[in-house]
Amino acid sequence: PMVALTFDDGPSKYTPRILDSLEANGGRATFFMVGNRVASYASTVKRMADLGCETDSHTWAHTYLTGMSEGEILQSLNQTRDAIVAAGGNAPKGVRPPGGKINDASKAVLAKAGMPSIVWSVDTLDWKTRNTQSTIDEVMRDLKDGDIILMHDIHTQTVDAALQLIPKLEEEGYQLVTVSEMAAAKNKTLENGTAYSDFVSTSKK
Ligand code: ZN
Repeated sequence: PMVALTFDDGPSKYTPRILDSLEANGGRATFFMVGNRVASYASTVKRMADLGCETDSHTWAHTYLTGMSEGEILQSLNQTRDAIVAAGGNAPKGVRPPGGKINDASKAVLAKAGMPSIVWSVDTLDWKTRNTQSTIDEVMRDLKDGDIILMHDIHTQTVDAALQLIPKLEEEGYQLVTVSEMAAAKNKTLENGTAYSDFVSTSKK
């Protein structure tokens, strides 16, 4: 079994603690980063890539795709990709739409940009509860092989939760893989412009 830990809205001053834990436990995660934050944490972004983590896009300024024109979306994605690559990260393989908001028009633009949309199957609500135990409980409650877990690496309580979850999930036999690694392992080709929320084989969705 495998799951994809995903962290949105960073990078932040807390992100290196997550990377330390992933490195110590041999796991990887996917970071959906806000482009305008990347240059301030360039060494963190480079370290993500060095550790095999996925350096993905959460747009330049966390603007909802559904409120942007085609030109604005493409510019936001290009700017974010350039910042991530300049910091030493890898060009993003996926986009997480801010707020999870995506519609047919924005999917069509992502198709043009050559990017799939990656949403989630486990919402920890960490940003709302700001509670370490509740974040851990939401992950463990109904976890399945193929789940994509949503967290935010800008809250210290989330990082505390991740530091417990990373060894705990590995103890329970889960491989911690990136979104792209999980798609490949489940024989799914990520289609540009399509939204993916999980790679659970028994999913009824
Ligand atoms: Zn976000």
